[in-house]
Amino acid sequence: MSDQARIFSTLKELSEACGVSGFEEEVRQLIREKMEEFSDEVSVDKLGNVIAKIKGKDEGFKVMLAAHMDEIGLMVKHIEKNGFLRFVPVGGVNPVMLVGQRVLVITRKGKIRGVVGTRPPHLLTPEEAKKAPEIKNLFIDIGAKSKEEAEKMGVRIGDVVTLERDLVRLGNGSIVTGKAFDDRIGVAIMIEAMRALSEERPLATTYAVATVQEEVGCRGAQVSAFKIHPSMAIVLDITAANDVAGVEERDYIVRLGAGPAIKVMDVISGSFLGLIAHPKVRDLLIKTAEEEGIPYQLEILVGGSTDAATIHLVREGIPSGVVSIPTRYAHSPTEVLSLDDAVNAVKLVTKAIRRVRPEDLSYQ
Ligand SMILES: [Zn+2]
Repeated sequence: MSDQARIFSTLKELSEACGVSGFEEEVRQLIREKMEEFSDEVSVDKLGNVIAKIKGKDEGFKVMLAAHMDEIGLMVKHIEKNGFLRFVPVGGVNPVMLVGQRVLVITRKGKIRGVVGTRPPHLLTPEEAKKAPEIKNLFIDIGAKSKEEAEKMGVRIGDVVTLERDLVRLGNGSIVTGKAFDDRIGVAIMIEAMRALSEERPLATTYAVATVQEEVGCRGAQVSAFKIHPSMAIVLDITAANDVAGVEERDYIVRLGAGPAIKVMDVISGSFLGLIAHPKVRDLLIKTAEEEGIPYQLEILVGGSTDAATIHLVREGIPSGVVSIPTRYAHSPTEVLSLDDAVNAVKLVTKAIRRVRPEDLSYQ
Protein backbone atom coordinates (compact mmCIF):
# COMPACT_ATOMS: atom_id res chain seq x y z
CA MET A 1 0.00 0.00 0.00
CA SER A 2 1.35 3.48 -0.84
CA ASP A 3 1.95 6.02 1.95
CA GLN A 4 -0.94 8.09 0.64
CA ALA A 5 -3.33 5.13 0.51
CA ARG A 6 -2.44 4.20 4.08
CA ILE A 7 -3.05 7.73 5.37
CA PHE A 8 -6.32 7.82 3.43
CA SER A 9 -7.70 4.64 4.96
CA THR A 10 -6.56 5.52 8.50
CA LEU A 11 -7.97 9.04 8.25
CA LYS A 12 -11.25 7.74 6.86
CA GLU A 13 -11.71 5.29 9.69
CA LEU A 14 -10.66 7.74 12.41
CA SER A 15 -12.56 10.78 11.13
CA GLU A 16 -15.83 8.89 10.73
CA ALA A 17 -15.60 7.64 14.34
CA CYS A 18 -17.10 9.61 17.23
CA GLY A 19 -15.03 11.22 19.96
CA VAL A 20 -16.41 14.45 21.37
CA SER A 21 -14.10 15.97 24.02
CA GLY A 22 -14.33 13.96 27.23
CA PHE A 23 -16.17 11.11 25.48
CA GLU A 24 -13.47 9.72 23.22
CA GLU A 25 -14.15 5.99 23.82
CA GLU A 26 -14.94 4.91 20.25
CA VAL A 27 -11.98 6.61 18.62
CA ARG A 28 -9.71 5.67 21.52
CA GLN A 29 -10.29 1.95 20.90
CA LEU A 30 -9.48 2.33 17.20
CA ILE A 31 -6.25 4.20 17.92
CA ARG A 32 -5.23 1.73 20.58
CA GLU A 33 -5.64 -1.23 18.23
CA LYS A 34 -3.60 0.47 15.51
CA MET A 35 -0.80 1.45 17.89
CA GLU A 36 -0.66 -2.07 19.32
CA GLU A 37 0.35 -3.46 15.90
CA PHE A 38 3.88 -2.09 16.17
CA SER A 39 4.50 -0.32 19.50
CA ASP A 40 6.58 -1.74 22.34
CA GLU A 41 3.96 -0.63 24.88
CA VAL A 42 0.52 0.93 24.68
CA SER A 43 -1.36 2.21 27.71
CA VAL A 44 -4.31 4.43 28.56
CA ASP A 45 -3.82 6.93 31.37
CA LYS A 46 -6.32 8.16 33.97
CA LEU A 47 -7.87 10.84 31.76
CA GLY A 48 -8.05 8.53 28.74
CA ASN A 49 -4.98 9.54 26.72
CA VAL A 50 -3.54 6.68 24.65
CA ILE A 51 0.23 6.53 25.12
CA ALA A 52 2.30 4.36 22.76
CA LYS A 53 6.03 3.84 23.18
CA ILE A 54 8.81 2.87 20.80
CA LYS A 55 12.05 2.19 22.63
CA GLY A 56 15.04 4.03 21.19
CA LYS A 57 18.72 3.28 21.63
CA ASP A 58 18.71 5.73 24.56
CA GLU A 59 15.87 5.05 26.98
CA GLY A 60 16.60 8.19 28.98
CA PHE A 61 16.31 10.56 26.01
CA LYS A 62 12.59 10.91 25.52
CA VAL A 63 10.67 12.60 22.73
CA MET A 64 6.90 13.05 22.84
CA LEU A 65 4.58 13.30 19.87
CA ALA A 66 1.03 14.46 20.53
CA ALA A 67 -2.11 14.72 18.43
CA HIS A 68 -5.58 15.13 19.88
CA MET A 69 -8.19 12.46 19.33
CA ASP A 70 -11.16 14.54 20.51
CA GLU A 71 -13.40 16.59 18.24
CA ILE A 72 -15.81 19.44 18.79
CA GLY A 73 -19.45 18.48 19.19
CA LEU A 74 -22.67 19.13 21.03
CA MET A 75 -24.20 17.97 24.30
CA VAL A 76 -27.91 17.45 25.01
CA LYS A 77 -29.02 19.82 27.77
CA HIS A 78 -32.80 19.56 27.61
CA ILE A 79 -35.47 17.33 26.06
CA GLU A 80 -38.57 19.29 25.02
CA LYS A 81 -42.09 17.92 25.68
CA ASN A 82 -42.51 17.38 21.94
CA GLY A 83 -39.30 15.32 21.65
CA PHE A 84 -36.86 17.91 20.31
CA LEU A 85 -33.39 18.12 21.88
CA ARG A 86 -31.78 21.39 22.98
CA PHE A 87 -28.00 21.42 23.23
CA VAL A 88 -24.86 23.28 24.27
CA PRO A 89 -21.60 23.30 22.30
CA VAL A 90 -18.54 21.32 23.40
CA GLY A 91 -15.54 23.26 22.09
CA GLY A 92 -15.55 25.96 19.41
CA VAL A 93 -18.74 25.23 17.47
CA ASN A 94 -19.89 27.76 14.88
CA PRO A 95 -23.72 27.64 14.73
CA VAL A 96 -23.66 28.58 11.03
CA MET A 97 -22.04 25.19 10.37
CA LEU A 98 -24.81 23.32 12.19
CA VAL A 99 -27.94 24.39 10.37
CA GLY A 100 -29.06 21.68 7.97
CA GLN A 101 -26.66 19.03 9.25
CA ARG A 102 -27.25 15.39 10.04
CA VAL A 103 -25.99 14.34 13.46
CA LEU A 104 -25.53 11.25 15.60
CA VAL A 105 -26.64 11.31 19.22
CA ILE A 106 -24.52 8.91 21.26
CA THR A 107 -26.95 7.38 23.75
CA ARG A 108 -26.54 4.58 26.25
CA LYS A 109 -28.53 2.41 23.85
CA GLY A 110 -26.33 3.26 20.86
CA LYS A 111 -26.14 5.95 18.19
CA ILE A 112 -29.31 7.51 16.88
CA ARG A 113 -29.70 9.81 13.90
CA GLY A 114 -30.99 13.34 13.98
CA VAL A 115 -30.98 16.59 12.05
CA VAL A 116 -30.31 20.09 13.32
CA GLY A 117 -33.44 22.15 12.92
CA THR A 118 -34.22 25.82 13.31
CA ARG A 119 -37.39 27.91 13.28
CA PRO A 120 -38.89 27.92 9.77
CA PRO A 121 -37.61 30.94 7.80
CA HIS A 122 -41.07 32.29 6.99
CA LEU A 123 -41.83 32.61 10.71
CA LEU A 124 -38.86 34.90 11.31
CA THR A 125 -39.20 38.69 11.38
CA PRO A 126 -37.12 40.47 8.69
CA GLU A 127 -34.74 41.52 11.49
CA GLU A 128 -34.29 37.92 12.72
CA ALA A 129 -33.82 36.61 9.17
CA LYS A 130 -30.75 38.82 8.71
CA LYS A 131 -28.97 37.49 11.79
CA ALA A 132 -26.63 34.50 11.96
CA PRO A 133 -28.23 31.56 13.77
CA GLU A 134 -27.62 31.20 17.49
CA ILE A 135 -27.20 27.89 19.26
CA LYS A 136 -30.03 28.70 21.67
CA ASN A 137 -32.45 28.82 18.72
CA LEU A 138 -31.38 25.48 17.24
CA PHE A 139 -32.55 22.00 18.20
CA ILE A 140 -32.09 18.37 17.16
CA ASP A 141 -34.99 16.52 15.58
CA ILE A 142 -34.60 12.78 16.18
CA GLY A 143 -38.06 11.88 14.94
CA ALA A 144 -39.46 11.42 18.45
CA LYS A 145 -43.03 12.60 19.12
CA SER A 146 -42.54 13.24 22.83
CA LYS A 147 -40.03 13.49 25.63
CA GLU A 148 -41.01 9.97 26.71
CA GLU A 149 -40.34 8.58 23.23
CA ALA A 150 -36.93 10.34 23.09
CA GLU A 151 -36.06 8.85 26.48
CA LYS A 152 -37.18 5.40 25.33
CA MET A 153 -34.83 5.76 22.37
CA GLY A 154 -32.07 6.14 24.98
CA VAL A 155 -31.58 9.91 25.05
CA ARG A 156 -30.54 11.45 28.35
CA ILE A 157 -29.18 14.81 29.47
CA GLY A 158 -25.42 14.89 28.84
CA ASP A 159 -25.46 12.69 25.74
CA VAL A 160 -22.94 13.96 23.21
CA VAL A 161 -23.62 14.56 19.56
CA THR A 162 -21.33 14.50 16.52
CA LEU A 163 -21.84 15.48 12.95
CA GLU A 164 -22.46 12.56 10.61
CA ARG A 165 -20.18 12.81 7.61
CA ASP A 166 -18.21 10.40 5.39
CA LEU A 167 -14.74 11.17 4.14
CA VAL A 168 -14.59 11.44 0.33
CA ARG A 169 -12.03 12.52 -2.26
CA LEU A 170 -12.19 15.74 -4.28
CA GLY A 171 -10.45 16.63 -7.53
CA ASN A 172 -7.55 14.42 -8.61
CA GLY A 173 -7.74 12.32 -5.46
CA SER A 174 -5.13 13.80 -3.14
CA ILE A 175 -7.62 16.31 -1.74
CA VAL A 176 -10.15 14.92 0.75
CA THR A 177 -13.11 16.34 2.64
CA GLY A 178 -14.87 15.20 5.79
CA LYS A 179 -15.34 15.95 9.48
CA ALA A 180 -12.95 15.89 12.45
CA PHE A 181 -9.77 16.14 10.34
CA ASP A 182 -9.00 18.38 13.33
CA ASP A 183 -7.23 16.40 14.58
CA ARG A 184 -7.66 12.85 13.33
CA ILE A 185 -5.21 13.75 10.54
CA GLY A 186 -2.65 14.50 13.27
CA VAL A 187 -3.37 11.12 14.85
CA ALA A 188 -3.09 9.35 11.46
CA ILE A 189 0.28 11.04 10.79
CA MET A 190 1.48 10.13 14.28
CA ILE A 191 0.52 6.46 13.76
CA GLU A 192 2.43 6.32 10.45
CA ALA A 193 5.48 8.07 11.96
CA MET A 194 5.54 5.57 14.83
CA ARG A 195 5.22 2.67 12.40
CA ALA A 196 8.27 3.96 10.50
CA LEU A 197 10.25 4.47 13.73
CA SER A 198 9.44 0.93 14.91
CA GLU A 199 10.99 -0.47 11.72
CA GLU A 200 14.32 1.27 12.33
CA ARG A 201 14.78 2.55 15.87
CA PRO A 202 16.04 6.08 16.48
CA LEU A 203 18.25 7.20 19.36
CA ALA A 204 15.33 8.84 21.17
CA THR A 205 12.73 6.75 22.93
CA THR A 206 9.54 8.03 21.37
CA TYR A 207 6.13 8.35 22.96
CA ALA A 208 3.05 9.05 20.85
CA VAL A 209 0.11 10.43 22.76
CA ALA A 210 -3.38 10.58 21.30
CA THR A 211 -4.69 13.21 23.68
CA VAL A 212 -8.16 13.85 25.07
CA GLN A 213 -9.93 17.18 25.64
CA GLU A 214 -7.78 19.45 23.44
CA GLU A 215 -10.79 21.34 22.14
CA VAL A 216 -11.74 22.42 25.65
CA GLY A 217 -8.30 23.62 26.73
CA CYS A 218 -5.54 21.09 25.94
CA ARG A 219 -6.20 19.13 29.12
CA GLY A 220 -5.06 15.61 28.21
CA ALA A 221 -1.80 16.91 26.77
CA GLN A 222 -0.88 18.63 30.00
CA VAL A 223 -1.14 15.54 32.19
CA SER A 224 0.48 13.18 29.71
CA ALA A 225 3.48 15.50 29.30
CA PHE A 226 3.87 15.51 33.08
CA LYS A 227 3.85 11.72 33.16
CA ILE A 228 6.27 11.23 30.24
CA HIS A 229 8.59 14.15 31.13
CA PRO A 230 10.11 14.34 27.62
CA SER A 231 13.16 16.32 26.48
CA MET A 232 11.21 17.60 23.49
CA ALA A 233 7.61 17.56 22.24
CA ILE A 234 6.28 17.82 18.71
CA VAL A 235 2.56 18.36 18.33
CA LEU A 236 0.68 17.43 15.16
CA ASP A 237 -2.45 19.44 14.50
CA ILE A 238 -4.24 21.29 11.75
CA THR A 239 -3.86 24.96 10.95
CA ALA A 240 -5.97 27.37 8.92
CA ALA A 241 -5.45 27.27 5.16
CA ASN A 242 -7.31 30.43 4.20
CA ASP A 243 -6.27 30.17 0.53
CA VAL A 244 -9.84 30.36 -0.73
CA ALA A 245 -11.95 32.63 -2.92
CA GLY A 246 -12.21 36.19 -1.67
CA VAL A 247 -9.25 36.11 0.73
CA GLU A 248 -6.14 38.25 0.20
CA GLU A 249 -2.86 36.35 -0.03
CA ARG A 250 -1.49 38.04 3.09
CA ASP A 251 -4.31 36.42 5.07
CA TYR A 252 -3.77 32.87 3.78
CA ILE A 253 -1.62 31.82 6.79
CA VAL A 254 -0.75 28.63 4.85
CA ARG A 255 -1.75 27.04 1.55
CA LEU A 256 -3.20 23.62 0.85
CA GLY A 257 -0.72 21.25 -0.83
CA ALA A 258 2.35 23.46 -0.28
CA GLY A 259 3.76 21.17 2.42
CA PRO A 260 3.29 20.75 6.15
CA ALA A 261 3.64 23.95 8.17
CA ILE A 262 6.31 24.46 10.82
CA LYS A 263 4.83 26.66 13.51
CA VAL A 264 6.65 29.80 14.59
CA MET A 265 3.97 31.20 16.89
CA ASP A 266 0.30 31.02 17.64
CA VAL A 267 -1.97 32.83 20.02
CA ILE A 268 -5.59 32.49 21.01
CA SER A 269 -7.34 35.77 20.08
CA GLY A 270 -7.63 38.24 22.90
CA SER A 271 -5.33 36.32 25.25
CA PHE A 272 -1.70 35.53 25.91
CA LEU A 273 -2.38 31.80 25.64
CA GLY A 274 -0.64 29.95 22.86
CA LEU A 275 2.87 28.96 21.88
CA ILE A 276 6.09 30.51 20.74
CA ALA A 277 7.66 27.42 19.21
CA HIS A 278 10.95 26.67 20.92
CA PRO A 279 13.60 28.03 18.52
CA LYS A 280 15.72 24.87 18.81
CA VAL A 281 12.77 22.63 17.93
CA ARG A 282 11.58 24.95 15.15
CA ASP A 283 15.10 25.03 13.67
CA LEU A 284 15.47 21.25 13.93
CA LEU A 285 12.28 20.92 11.88
CA ILE A 286 13.35 23.54 9.31
CA LYS A 287 16.81 22.02 8.92
CA THR A 288 15.34 18.54 8.55
CA ALA A 289 12.90 19.69 5.86
CA GLU A 290 15.59 21.55 3.92
CA GLU A 291 18.20 18.80 4.06
CA GLU A 292 15.73 16.02 3.29
CA GLY A 293 14.03 17.92 0.46
CA ILE A 294 10.62 18.00 2.16
CA PRO A 295 8.43 20.99 1.18
CA TYR A 296 7.35 23.13 4.15
CA GLN A 297 5.75 26.46 5.06
CA LEU A 298 6.23 28.67 8.10
CA GLU A 299 3.14 29.41 10.13
CA ILE A 300 2.01 32.21 12.39
CA LEU A 301 -1.57 31.76 13.53
CA VAL A 302 -3.59 34.34 15.39
CA GLY A 303 -6.85 32.85 16.62
CA GLY A 304 -6.07 29.36 17.84
CA SER A 305 -3.53 27.08 19.41
CA THR A 306 -2.70 23.42 19.98
CA ASP A 307 -1.74 20.94 22.68
CA ALA A 308 1.74 22.49 22.66
CA ALA A 309 0.23 25.50 24.48
CA THR A 310 -0.01 23.44 27.67
CA ILE A 311 2.79 20.91 27.05
CA HIS A 312 5.60 23.49 26.92
CA LEU A 313 4.68 24.78 30.39
CA VAL A 314 4.73 21.43 32.17
CA ARG A 315 7.32 20.84 34.94
CA GLU A 316 10.45 22.91 34.29
CA GLY A 317 9.43 23.61 30.68
CA ILE A 318 9.45 21.29 27.66
CA PRO A 319 10.97 22.51 24.36
CA SER A 320 7.99 22.19 22.02
CA GLY A 321 7.25 22.66 18.35
CA VAL A 322 4.32 21.98 16.06
CA VAL A 323 3.96 20.48 12.61
CA SER A 324 0.65 21.67 11.19
CA ILE A 325 -1.49 20.31 8.39
CA PRO A 326 -3.03 23.06 6.24
CA THR A 327 -6.81 22.60 6.48
CA ARG A 328 -9.67 24.64 5.05
CA TYR A 329 -12.99 25.22 6.85
CA ALA A 330 -11.79 23.97 10.24
CA HIS A 331 -14.47 22.94 12.73
CA SER A 332 -16.99 22.27 9.96
CA PRO A 333 -18.37 19.03 8.51
CA THR A 334 -16.59 19.87 5.26
CA GLU A 335 -12.97 20.26 6.28
CA VAL A 336 -10.59 19.96 3.30
CA LEU A 337 -6.93 18.93 3.28
CA SER A 338 -4.26 17.51 1.00
CA LEU A 339 -3.00 13.97 1.60
CA ASP A 340 0.32 15.05 0.05
CA ASP A 341 0.82 17.45 2.97
CA ALA A 342 0.05 14.58 5.35
CA VAL A 343 2.55 12.22 3.68
CA ASN A 344 5.21 14.94 3.87
CA ALA A 345 4.37 15.56 7.52
CA VAL A 346 5.02 11.87 8.28
CA LYS A 347 8.43 12.17 6.62
CA LEU A 348 9.28 15.42 8.39
CA VAL A 349 8.42 14.15 11.86
CA THR A 350 10.08 10.77 11.37
CA LYS A 351 13.32 12.29 10.04
CA ALA A 352 13.41 14.98 12.74
CA ILE A 353 13.11 12.32 15.47
CA ARG A 354 15.88 10.27 13.85
CA ARG A 355 18.16 13.32 13.83
CA VAL A 356 17.59 14.90 17.22
CA ARG A 357 20.32 14.65 19.88
CA PRO A 358 20.05 15.90 23.48
CA GLU A 359 22.58 18.70 22.82
CA ASP A 360 20.38 20.09 19.99
CA LEU A 361 17.82 21.21 22.57
CA SER A 362 20.08 22.99 25.03
CA TYR A 363 20.80 26.73 25.28
CA GLN A 364 24.20 26.10 26.89
ZN1 LIG B 1 -6.96 20.67 16.68
